[in-house]
Amino acid sequence: MRPPYLLLDVDGVLIPFPDAEGAGPATHTRHDVVPIGRSADNPVTIWLNPAHGPLLMHVIRTGLVIPVWCTSWRQDATTLISPLLGLPPLPYVDLPRPQITTSHPNGYLWKRDHVDVWLGDSPVIWIDDDFTSLDHEWAAERTTHDQPTVLIQPDPYVGLLAEHLVEILGRAALLPIAPAPASDSSCEAEAA
Ligand SMILES: [Mg+2]
Repeated sequence: MRPPYLLLDVDGVLIPFPDAEGAGPATHTRHDVVPIGRSADNPVTIWLNPAHGPLLMHVIRTGLVIPVWCTSWRQDATTLISPLLGLPPLPYVDLPRPQITTSHPNGYLWKRDHVDVWLGDSPVIWIDDDFTSLDHEWAAERTTHDQPTVLIQPDPYVGLLAEHLVEILGRAALLPIAPAPASDSSCEAEAA
């Protein structure tokens, strides 16, 4: 079995929800970015923790996981978020763009149906701030079918902490899989 994918959310994980004044935590640095389809004179303000890049690189270099963005930023995560954190241009899950007004239109995370197909029977460690109890049931069900599935859920107002990365490494190390060759953990085209 190949190493698990490490699916990485952005909003609520790398970009915490803003406080009442619209700012991020003191640990985070403000950036103005221009996502695809937006004009340069109308950038989006985001807050990123510069420490997250080296922490994530430490995880990636172990070869214990295959990192892939899984976020409504889609390709912009690869082209905008990765370089701001000093990460290589990691591949991304090309999520659909459903017309929804809640992130849980069916009681579970809107990304999940697409991710479920995308994963096939691959093992996964998925970090996202927005899972529901139905997502945790889905993870438990996959795991019972030899598709190890670990969900890690940061507080969206705090975001990613070092302890989450320690948990990722700990859980990945316990999965019954061999580490990937070094070249397999670097950037490749969008995974299928
Ligand atoms: Mg999120």
